[in-house]
Amino acid sequence: MKFNTKVIHGGQEHDPAYGAVMPPIYQTSTYAQTTPGGHKGYEYSRTHNPTRNALENALASIENGNYGLAFGSGLAAIDAIMKLLKPGDEVISTNDLYGGSFRLFTKIYEGFGIKFHFIGMDQASNIEAYVTNKTKLIWVETPTNPMMNIIDIKAVSEISKKHNVLLAVDNTFATPYLQKPLDLGADIVMHSATKYLGGHSDVVMGALIVEDKNLADRLYFIQNASGAICGPQDSFLVLRGIKTLHIRMQRHCENGKAIAEFLVNHPKIENVYWPGFENHPNHSIAKSQMKDFGGMISFTTKDNNYDAAIKIVERLKVFTLAESLGGIESLSGHPASMTHASIPKEEREKVGVVDSLIRLSVGIEDVEDLIADLNQAIG
Ligand SMILES: *Cc1c(COP(=O)(O)O)cnc(C)c1O
Repeated sequence: MKFNTKVIHGGQEHDPAYGAVMPPIYQTSTYAQTTPGGHKGYEYSRTHNPTRNALENALASIENGNYGLAFGSGLAAIDAIMKLLKPGDEVISTNDLYGGSFRLFTKIYEGFGIKFHFIGMDQASNIEAYVTNKTKLIWVETPTNPMMNIIDIKAVSEISKKHNVLLAVDNTFATPYLQKPLDLGADIVMHSATKYLGGHSDVVMGALIVEDKNLADRLYFIQNASGAICGPQDSFLVLRGIKTLHIRMQRHCENGKAIAEFLVNHPKIENVYWPGFENHPNHSIAKSQMKDFGGMISFTTKDNNYDAAIKIVERLKVFTLAESLGGIESLSGHPASMTHASIPKEEREKVGVVDSLIRLSVGIEDVEDLIADLNQAIG
């Protein structure tokens, strides 16, 4: 099956009870048994729920994996990965990553005795110097948030395989429409399904997809034992969202390209971060591992100050100033005061998250309206 067919049919069956084309929302915590253990495969909804299972099968299908796991949020999904580790283990992570991931790693898991190395991964070979016999996980986010750096997943996976270390890729920004980390050698794909997979800014959810049965079993054990699952209603919403992922992503990419080109030619704009530009430092990797360049763009203005950036996001009318991304509606954000406020100023400035940086999640509206809005706001 090809991708556009998979998003609609992959891993999915019509409901066996009445043939419902969409899986019903099984809003139940438990399932009747005829005798102890006499059930139809479902005992308790933390462990299994038919609506969540339908979604999990669809997730596995679209990422070319074998097993999908859905969680109550993206961070709950990352938390489940971290529970594969033990005190004394080490993690090598990209240094330009989602603020909440950084907070989870440093404020929770460092306290449990796990050591993190945050490094630039633009050159995959940088990683080798940090690998020891304690290294158990490499954490990659690409494109990175919000600087749109690109990490060569295949090159990193060669290093992870050589040293027998797990490689997890946060695929939230790209989605499987643009890139498939398992095909490039990753062991675990992670999603904040809150973003493009859900796609309509109406649900918070996380997901993991793996190929290996043994790894899947360990993660299913953690999912059930720790219990950070998502509910059936949310599972239904994300399953529904996935069915239009391919056409939404196509439009996000088209609009993203038009806006990146508008910004780069605007006299008041200093830098535009978008992997589709030929002079983007990792453009060739983006081109080889991604189908297109996505709808996420960051930029700075020439006057380069905090207040000017705040004024722009306040003046935008079609773009809504809000946390999050990946929905059909366009959003703007000011990373230094919003998504990345939990990262110390020196840390974030090292990777380019300066006070004047603005991040756009370009939606699927008419691009002329989006450009006119940016034009009036930048002034
Ligand atoms: C939003 C986001 C997360 C966290 O997901 P939640 O669903 O908000 O818990 C992780 N990684 C990236 C890249 C994100 O954008």
